[in-house]
Order: sequence, then structure tokens, then C-alpha cells
Amino acid sequence: MGDALQHECTGPCIICGLSKEQGIMIISEFICDDCEKEMVRTDVSDPKYPFFIHQMKQIIYKKNA
Ligand SMILES: [Zn+2]
Repeated sequence: MGDALQHECTGPCIICGLSKEQGIMIISEFICDDCEKEMVRTDVSDPKYPFFIHQMKQIIYKKNA
């Protein structure tokens, strides 16, 4: 735990690829505020959900590589 989650970092976001001022760091990757909120409200049945999961897995794999 510890510094894994920080606010007010800058991108580029791993989901949308845009540089934003507001967002969170997950492990060492940035996810902007917009994508983070969208992920939270995305339903499991939404076509975008697998994409978000895929992007998240990229982070985990990088960490364990
Ligand atoms: Zn984003």
C-alpha cells in the first residue's frame, strides 16, 4: 500500500491516452478523472467494460513483469 493512490497527478491516461491534470495513479500508471469515473459507473454488461479490464490488466502485468 502507501503511495499507490495519489491525486492531482498528470497523464497521459492509459485508458484514453490524453494528458489530464486530474486523475489517479494506479501502481505506476495514470488514469484520468473522467476515465476513472466512467469505469466506476460502467456496468459489467457494457461493451466498454472488457476494454477497461484489459487496460487494468496491462498495468498489473507490467508490475509483475
Ligand atoms: Zn482518461
